[in-house]
Amino acid sequence: MKVEKADKIGFCFGVRRAVEVLEKVAQEQGGVETLGAVVHNKQVMQRLATIGVKVARDIDDIRGGTVATSSHGISPQIEKELRSRHIGIISTTCPFVHRAQVAARRLAEAGFFVVIYGDADHPEVRGILGWTRGQGIATMDVKFLETFDQVPRRLGILSQTTQIPAHFNEFAKKLIDVALSRDSEIRIIDTICHDIRERQAAALKLAEKVDLMLVVGGRHSANTNRLAELCAEVTETHVVETAKEIKLSWLRGKNRIGITAGASTDEQTVNEVWRKLNG
Ligand code: SF4
Repeated sequence: MKVEKADKIGFCFGVRRAVEVLEKVAQEQGGVETLGAVVHNKQVMQRLATIGVKVARDIDDIRGGTVATSSHGISPQIEKELRSRHIGIISTTCPFVHRAQVAARRLAEAGFFVVIYGDADHPEVRGILGWTRGQGIATMDVKFLETFDQVPRRLGILSQTTQIPAHFNEFAKKLIDVALSRDSEIRIIDTICHDIRERQAAALKLAEKVDLMLVVGGRHSANTNRLAELCAEVTETHVVETAKEIKLSWLRGKNRIGITAGASTDEQTVNEVWRKLNG
């Protein structure tokens, strides 16, 4: 049985940066609170907990005078609420997420109704949507237009950073088909993260050559789930959070196995999976 890792694996730039900030602050201050899980990966959060990183479920749950926000960013409304309670903010917002927030704000300020292609319940998407200040929607289905008496004349389209580029393109094309009419103006801004593009391309390249793909990552991690979705289009694919979850029945009769991992999966967890398959 041959086991191969995808070319692009390990923490992405944004997660690495967030983890480094937290490690530094926790060391200097003897601990730090974060607003929600700073990354969607249980193993990484467990490791951070050992150096004093505590997760506050919401603003009311914050005990100290300072809080670190996650790489997914926050809305201006949450920022305002924190400031009104005199809670200091340590931002670990990924620069690529920040770019999407700025795009949403600028479109809304220029009079565009902003359509964010993404999972409306994901913290990153909720944050970006907040920057439209009520002039936007987060959705993955163009049917939302049916709720308007009149389709907005100016539409701005952008994406959650971790979506699959080809799916975003399809969505934008459908929206153009439905919404483009006389005098309308549609602006599309590609806000998909470069790391995610490369990671998805590397995973797909490997998936096309193997009998089984294992995607190592958190089940709540959006980019992990997108990787699995993409690989499943070409080969049998399973998501595992740890090596313990690998089922022997998956391996029966398989000659080549590929491993890829979400952007918030640490190398240690990937290596454990690698060792279990090679053991
Ligand atoms: S996946 Fe991309 S956007 Fe998300 S944290 Fe990593 S680098 Fe930033």
